[in-house]
Amino acid sequence: MLPYGRQSIDESDVAAVIDALSSDWLTTGPRVAEFEAMLAEVAGAPCVTVTNGTTALHAAYAAAGVSAGDEVVTTPMTFVATASGAAMLGATVVFADVEEDSANLDPAAVEAVVTERTKVIAAVDYAGVPADYDRLRKIADGAGAYLLGDAAHSIGSLYRGRPVGTLADLTTFSFFPTKNLTTAEGGAIASTRPELVTRLREFRTVGLVRDRARMRYPDEGAWHQEVHQFGLNYRLPDVLCALGSSQLRRLAAFKERRRQLAARYDELLADVPGLRLPVQADDVDPMRHLYPVRILDGRRREVFDRLRAAGIGVQVNYIPVYWHPVFEDLGYRRGMCPNAEAFYAEELSLPLFADLTDDDQDRVVEALRGILGS
Ligand SMILES: *Cc1c(COP(=O)(O)O)cnc(C)c1O
Repeated sequence: MLPYGRQSIDESDVAAVIDALSSDWLTTGPRVAEFEAMLAEVAGAPCVTVTNGTTALHAAYAAAGVSAGDEVVTTPMTFVATASGAAMLGATVVFADVEEDSANLDPAAVEAVVTERTKVIAAVDYAGVPADYDRLRKIADGAGAYLLGDAAHSIGSLYRGRPVGTLADLTTFSFFPTKNLTTAEGGAIASTRPELVTRLREFRTVGLVRDRARMRYPDEGAWHQEVHQFGLNYRLPDVLCALGSSQLRRLAAFKERRRQLAARYDELLADVPGLRLPVQADDVDPMRHLYPVRILDGRRREVFDRLRAAGIGVQVNYIPVYWHPVFEDLGYRRGMCPNAEAFYAEELSLPLFADLTDDDQDRVVEALRGILGS
């Protein structure tokens, strides 16, 4: 089965991991700091690595101080972790609808639901296209809320010339194999706010405070470390950070190949009936993470099944988050965000990853043409 997304691992990646394995460090060693420094270059802000994109979101919400009684406004057109990280801290998740074309959080919809209880506004850069951060920033500032970007799709993307990582107070990344670069499992949080970076570092290390200047009992002894706020062990190991640094060296090449492939789809699918191609906003330079087409005339399920039967591993991204039974059981009802639901009904992600060959892509195009009849 041709997958919709997959990792690209070359000899330099393998060598980097082998090197790390035979060093003195397996967990927290110099490769963590090296990967975080390289990430900070790409993100334009200090970065803290964690075990995956889900724990990155959990840590980011915890750093923002999200707790019971708070509201977190987010998009339903995302992986469930964008919302569940806040829900697990006791917050009420408020879903605001997406823009009809980009499937990104609609600032007007956010504006309509913010209250004095809004603690975080969490956007997602769907398919790698940054959300409208300038407008979201104004709303967040007006509400006294933090702005969070779930950039699981968009590391390396630019918005009005600024890198994803500088656009929100907290920006989370995922390094799962289907994402734009991988550490097997892995994630990170970039933050433009030094106090949040400190909190993130402590949270991912069980809450331990090691900085003597911050200790309540600094004279206890050289062994001493103390916990001020609870945390978890979310550390990304040295061995995986070695892979991450190696992958980051290839990020520009990944971005260029994804751009080429997306442009080829644009061209090769332009005249296919019953199909709507993704729009491209002009003030962004995206890392093309997904290629999300819309299958019209109620045929999405049929097209999905027939492509899968032909060995083409298409995907649907995403079921509106509040359709998950856990949210349904909390009282969330279908119909709440009509644009997201309409998008979901038609969406199909075609294979797109750095090592996809032109031949395999042609096969996807021909199969789709065969089904949609052109
Ligand atoms: C993949 C993804 C996550 C979760 O990342 P994991 O590394 O798989 O835990 C969160 N949000 C979005 C939008 C994602 O695509």
